[in-house]
Amino acid sequence: MAETTQRAEILCVGTELLLGDIVNTNAAFLSRRLAELGIGVYRQVAVGDNPQRLCDALAACLERADIVVMSGGLGPTKDDLTKETVAKFFGRPMRLHQESLETIRDYFKKTGRVMTQNNEKQAVMPEGAIVFPNRYGTAPALAIENESKTVIMLPGPPVELMPLFDEEVVPYLEKKCDAAIVSRNVHFFGIGESALAEKMDKLLTESENPSVAPYCQSGEVRLRVTARSDDKESAAAMCDECVKRIIESEVGCFVYGIDTDTIENALVMKLHESGLTLSAAESCTGGLIAKRITDIPGCSDVFFGGCVTYTNEVKQRLLGVKGETLDRYTAISAEVAMEMARGVRERTGSDIGISATGIAGPGGGTEEAPVGTVYLGISTEEGESFRRLSLSSNRSREFIRTVSATNAYDMVLKYIASK
Ligand code: ATP
Ligand code: MG
Repeated sequence: MAETTQRAEILCVGTELLLGDIVNTNAAFLSRRLAELGIGVYRQVAVGDNPQRLCDALAACLERADIVVMSGGLGPTKDDLTKETVAKFFGRPMRLHQESLETIRDYFKKTGRVMTQNNEKQAVMPEGAIVFPNRYGTAPALAIENESKTVIMLPGPPVELMPLFDEEVVPYLEKKCDAAIVSRNVHFFGIGESALAEKMDKLLTESENPSVAPYCQSGEVRLRVTARSDDKESAAAMCDECVKRIIESEVGCFVYGIDTDTIENALVMKLHESGLTLSAAESCTGGLIAKRITDIPGCSDVFFGGCVTYTNEVKQRLLGVKGETLDRYTAISAEVAMEMARGVRERTGSDIGISATGIAGPGGGTEEAPVGTVYLGISTEEGESFRRLSLSSNRSREFIRTVSATNAYDMVLKYIASK
């Protein structure tokens, strides 16, 4: 493979960055992605919304680097001056870019908003710029190539910058660097980021190509495996080989999917494959278990339905939970969770019933069941079992609910795997 000698610097624009109002997550994201492309990042710089200082910073970056990747300041307002400053730096006049104007018009039409004169400014580009259309917002990204130097400009909002970079800029840079990049996400559940990092220490620290990096969100962890090669096929083969090593390692039992967006996606897929059906009885999750499953198109073949049974009385009436069980063990107990799961399974006629009952807080905790205590039940023809979660009481209500639902999915996945 042609070894690239490209050096990059990252230049983020925005006074909020300097004031500490926002964290520079774009720089971290861009650094990671550039490293995956085999482009060395030599410096990260942040400057305020000031044309002179921006111009000075750009000059300094270009003195050392072949590629400068910029973020921010592409918006329609007066303080957004990235494009104009870069154009001036290279002595390029600004011209209306007709295609961008059409795209911006379409975007406003689609999102039902009124386009202002200001937004037209976003379609004005330095002469000769390469324009990357932005489906996620209004400001297109762009690149200027000048002799051996390249300056790439991206909009500031991470929800626009990240997909735009992956979809438009990565292919552009791949061509430039004579490389092909393929990545796979290995999704884990039931193991924390630090435990995973510890067990995979060698792989994480020694892997350069493919590189392996952990990411963590709401109780789930994923490893992103990225390989760089001359062509897509060999990069894909390198990735797959590494993914295989991960699955065959001691943490393999925690993997619930490869390149699946979410655990509920993996669950719906497994239910389809196994021909099993599911229903849910929910107390503290308030319908979240059903909601996340029904977010997935095509779930109706495998998910029959569910109910939110918040009070004891409704648990009895709708699910047939026994008053005696509630009196003896309280609503937040393994026994009630299992009766709820059985109740919903029997009443809906599904193969599997799952349930959640617990305390999502912030109030309502007791000594036996502090905030963050959740019992999850599963019922099948073969029998019933439960899982008790003791989540930290400092966690938000939303976190406790999300992790509870995720655990419920994991229980069903484990059951299917055991069949
Ligand atoms: P807009 O059209 O939204 O004005 P823009 O390209 O002009 O986009 P900025 O005005 O610089 O971008 O930033 C818009 C928002 O994007 C900021 O308020 C902030 O929330 C986010 N943002 C900007 N730069 C960064 C960064 N480096 N890291 C993380 N978030 C950022
Ligand atoms: Mg702006």
